[in-house]
Amino acid sequence: MSTVRQFVVGNWKMNGTRASLAEIDAVRSGIGGVACDVGICPPATLIAAATERARGAALMIGGQDCHTAAGGAHTGDVSAEMIADAGGTLVVVGHSERRTDHDEDDALVRAKAEAGWRAGLLVILCIGETEAQRRAGETLAVLSSQLEGSVPDGSSAENLVVAYEPVWAIGTGLTASNDDIREAHAHIRTELVARFGEAAAGIRLLYGGSVKPGNAGEILPLANVDGALVGGASLKAADFLGIIAAAG
Ligand code: PEP
Repeated sequence: MSTVRQFVVGNWKMNGTRASLAEIDAVRSGIGGVACDVGICPPATLIAAATERARGAALMIGGQDCHTAAGGAHTGDVSAEMIADAGGTLVVVGHSERRTDHDEDDALVRAKAEAGWRAGLLVILCIGETEAQRRAGETLAVLSSQLEGSVPDGSSAENLVVAYEPVWAIGTGLTASNDDIREAHAHIRTELVARFGEAAAGIRLLYGGSVKPGNAGEILPLANVDGALVGGASLKAADFLGIIAAAG
């Protein structure tokens, strides 16, 4: 079981219109007294409205990505400062869909994490191996290299959360085995402690990849699993609340 307060974060991806704000209301109503921290990252178009709906509740709202610059000629992009201005307190960087669809490399992810800090946001930084890398026995080496390349100096439990998301488990219905999750999370913890010292024991490590109410009770108690990053199952409040109920 995790030694820190767990954190369950929903990533709505490119889903959600104003009608979906009813799900924020339902999550808000369902989280009174829960034993974990809770966040939702809706699409950028809904951040401001979502923060209004979450006002006064223990429900963090954030962005799914940010540009490295605070502003300027970057058509279509959103800066960390804009997320903060809209009321957001979190930002996800390095999600595998960004790394793949937008060719984001570790250096860019690192710069985005630093941009998130510059705006005062809590950064959720995603790493994870592809199916081919896992089959080639490269999982731990890939995680080490992503951590070294994308986690900035100055990381701490106060400014960083790391999400381990095996790429082959995202949106596929497949989840890593408990042993695979334990091994990956122990490895990430060891690497973070080696670089940042014992205080890195407090950096929360989330598991992500087809987490659902039906498997959360098995995944969340695993050693070094300090919560979950949830895609598909965060879109319906009832499912998301089922996962939150399994956290502690
Ligand atoms: C994600 O988007 O980070 C994710 C883990 O998605 P899903 O839960 O749908 O696999």
